[in-house]
Amino acid sequence: MKTISYKLALIFIASCLLSSGCQSMQSEPAQFDEEIALSYLETQLSFGYRYPGSEGHTQTIDWLQQELQNNNWKVTLYEYPYYDLVITNVVAHRDGTAPHILLGAHYDTRITADQDKDQPQTPVMGANDGASGVAVLLELSRVLPQSISNEISLAFFDFEDQGNIGQYQWIAGSNALANDPIFALPDQVIIVDMIGDADLNIYMDHNSDEVLSQEIWAAAADLDYQSFLIPETKYSMYDDHVPFKEKGIPAIDIIDFDYPYWHTTQDVAENISSKSLGIIGETLLYWLSKSIN
Ligand SMILES: [Zn+2]
Repeated sequence: MKTISYKLALIFIASCLLSSGCQSMQSEPAQFDEEIALSYLETQLSFGYRYPGSEGHTQTIDWLQQELQNNNWKVTLYEYPYYDLVITNVVAHRDGTAPHILLGAHYDTRITADQDKDQPQTPVMGANDGASGVAVLLELSRVLPQSISNEISLAFFDFEDQGNIGQYQWIAGSNALANDPIFALPDQVIIVDMIGDADLNIYMDHNSDEVLSQEIWAAAADLDYQSFLIPETKYSMYDDHVPFKEKGIPAIDIIDFDYPYWHTTQDVAENISSKSLGIIGETLLYWLSKSIN
C-alpha cells in the first residue's frame, strides 16, 4: 500500500507541476498562530499610547505598512485632513483589483480613559480596544492562502475611538473611507474590535447584517466555539461597520462588549488571552476558506 500511495503522490505532484492545477497543494493554508497574533498585539503596546497625533500612532502606521509588505500585501494609505490632524487609513490587498470582502479593525487608541473613575484624563493603552483586532488581521495577512486572499482587503482604520473629544466624531476613519469616491466599495464587511478579552463572550450586534452574522456564528459553532460566540443578539454597536451598512453593504461587527476595562487605564495586556485571538482568527480563516472558492 505504501508503495502505491507513494507512486500516486508522485503522479499527483508531477501532474500538478505540468498543469499548474494543484491549488490545494500549492496554497495549503497555514495555521492561524495565536502566539504570533499575541506578539503583534505586544508590539503595538511597545509603541505606547496610539492616539492620533502621538508618536506611537505614527510608529503604528509605519509598522503596519512594513508588516503587510513583508507578508506580500500591497499597501495604500487613505489620508484625509481632519480638524488639526490627518486621518490615515491603512488598506492592504494582494493582487485583486476590487476585493469583495473587507476585514477591518481600528488601530487608534482613545486619548482619554473617560470610563476610569480614578484616572479619566489618562490615555487608554488599548490592548483590547485597538490592538487585538489589528493583531488578528495581521496574523491573517501572514497565513491567508494566496488562492483566496485576492478576494480580501484588510483595512486598518484610524480615528475610530475619539468620539466626544473636542470636535471629533466616532468612526471618523471608516466614515471617510466608505464615502471616498476613489475607494472601490466591497460586497461584504467584517469588523473585529475588542476580541482579545481573556473572558471572551461575543454576542451578535443589532446593527449588524443578520445573514452574515448567522454565517460567522455558525462557522464558530463548527469549530466548537459556540460558548465564545454566543448566537444571541445583545448590544447595538456604533462601530466601523456602520458607514458601510449605510451604503447598503452587508456589514457586521464582531465585538466583545462585556469588557469591564473598556475605556479605562486597565485595558492592558494582563487582561488579554492569546486563546481569544486564536478563536476569532480561526473562525475567520475557516469562514473565508469556505465562502471563497
Ligand atoms: Zn473604544
